[in-house]
Amino acid sequence: MRTLRLSAKTVRRLRETLLKDDEQERFAFVYAGDEGNLLAHQVVTVDDDAMARQSKTACRPAPEIERERLSECYDQQLAPVLAHSHPFSADPRFSSIDVESMGRFREWITGLFPDRSFGFAVVGTNGIEVVADDETRLEAIDVEVLGEWKLDRPVTGSNSRFDIDADASAHEDQRYDRNVRAFGNDGQQRLESTTVGIVGVGGIGSMVAEQLSRLGVGEVVLVDPDEVEESNLSRISGVFDHQIGEPKVTALREHLLQSSGGSLSVTTVQERIQNCPSVLDDCDTIIGCVDSVSARSFCNEYAVKQLQYYLDAGVRIDTPDRTATGTSSDGMTAEQGSKESNETAIEEPVQTDDQTVEMTGYVHLVAPGSNACFDCLGRHDQAAARIEQLSPTERSAEQERGYIDDDELAPEPAVVHLNGQCASKTVSVLVDLVTGVHTPPDFIRYEDHAHEMTELTTAPSEHCPTCGTDGVLGVGQRSFGDAHFEPAETPVESD
Ligand SMILES: [Zn+2]
Ligand SMILES: [Zn+2]
Repeated sequence: MRTLRLSAKTVRRLRETLLKDDEQERFAFVYAGDEGNLLAHQVVTVDDDAMARQSKTACRPAPEIERERLSECYDQQLAPVLAHSHPFSADPRFSSIDVESMGRFREWITGLFPDRSFGFAVVGTNGIEVVADDETRLEAIDVEVLGEWKLDRPVTGSNSRFDIDADASAHEDQRYDRNVRAFGNDGQQRLESTTVGIVGVGGIGSMVAEQLSRLGVGEVVLVDPDEVEESNLSRISGVFDHQIGEPKVTALREHLLQSSGGSLSVTTVQERIQNCPSVLDDCDTIIGCVDSVSARSFCNEYAVKQLQYYLDAGVRIDTPDRTATGTSSDGMTAEQGSKESNETAIEEPVQTDDQTVEMTGYVHLVAPGSNACFDCLGRHDQAAARIEQLSPTERSAEQERGYIDDDELAPEPAVVHLNGQCASKTVSVLVDLVTGVHTPPDFIRYEDHAHEMTELTTAPSEHCPTCGTDGVLGVGQRSFGDAHFEPAETPVESD
């Protein structure tokens, strides 16, 4: 069944603008990306004075407003959902008058814009009913709210992508007995019904995958372009010496089939995610464990466009060496930097204290339009992303000229136990999300030297270039309107 996906922000806006104390019916257009499922992008309200008819039992915008909004919506390659309210009803249903006028509207609009998708919604105080055109008639479709836990009142009757598969059955065997004791048969079956995309299967991603295979998750999609190198063996879970040179995804797959007892279905994609985003289309959740800023940004933007859950996991280790060169502003080379800090180490033995090496990790849950995305928090490091996008030749040229510190190109420090902390926390957020046993946190920061985890609550920013007012929330993969805006052209002056 098709679904209308909405963010908590969109539901809130619909309720605020359509349900008022005077109990008049009100009207709004929801512009939605059309990917088979409809993905709510934006709510465009119709002011009371732009209504042709408005009462406690009926409402309809003026015809010219209706035409204007519909063209505007189709111009953006989006599908309109015409929403009105039944403010007197908790769990609203289309009235017989609604059904009749929707039929007339359907004839009119298919004459005007043939082959274009559209839908209708009726919004009550708790529920929302939706129908969409399926080319021959209007069919009822499901409603799903991403990050529904952010609403004061959940949407009655809404579905979750984490609902249990219809063919799932309780376990007779002992394999998941202890899991079931922890989060119940329902929780276990939800895990078994879910599909997780893991982008990046290095130190963190491989451990996330290993844990998911033990938990009984139904399906994973592994995406990573790299091959196993000797320097990975200190951290990658389930990958061994004889697999050096093999694609990471196939080496890991072999292990996961064993650790899951064969119950996990594993799809492998040896490719940069930027070249194959559609492999994530059927995932219920995406976990990003990548070391490149551009891949993280890409996953975040994909999730925002598709209204998908995205869990971004990462670690950072700052050593005295790296801090010395990293913060230098006088063109000091890496060699000079490390020499200087070695000298400091001799003079100040306090550097043997554990605090000279700072290890931090984080897990960031993005429920697009319901909490903060990667770009709401300004986490996109433009300088690092620029370096990543240079060709090897351009990179060494810039390095020679001193535009890039050697330090910026050197491999980051990494250790298995920090990755393990981060991977476990990522899985625990995923389990919260899938089983519904706890409300998942928005953001967790871990500081190793203090042994401290901090939970942060976030909210989406209206000014965010990706999920904000001028962003790409729910637009799907339409061919234009990318989040990375070019500077505006000089407007043409007119008299
Ligand atoms: Zn109605
Ligand atoms: Zn954002």
